[in-house]
Amino acid sequence: MHSNDWDNKVKCPYCGYEMPLTYEKDANCKGVFVRCKGRKCKKIFEIIIEKTNVK
Ligand SMILES: [Zn+2]
Repeated sequence: MHSNDWDNKVKCPYCGYEMPLTYEKDANCKGVFVRCKGRKCKKIFEIIIEKTNVK
């Protein structure tokens, strides 16, 4: 199974806006902040990515 490796999207937790960011399954991200690009939102939120392939 490898079809969804690049299908992980970062969404704004406030408005659900899909940010133009993708990450792979092995990504591990913390302490990175981005500003939402939603026109009426523009809130800053933290991107927290934890490994999802638990085995
Ligand atoms: Zn937003």
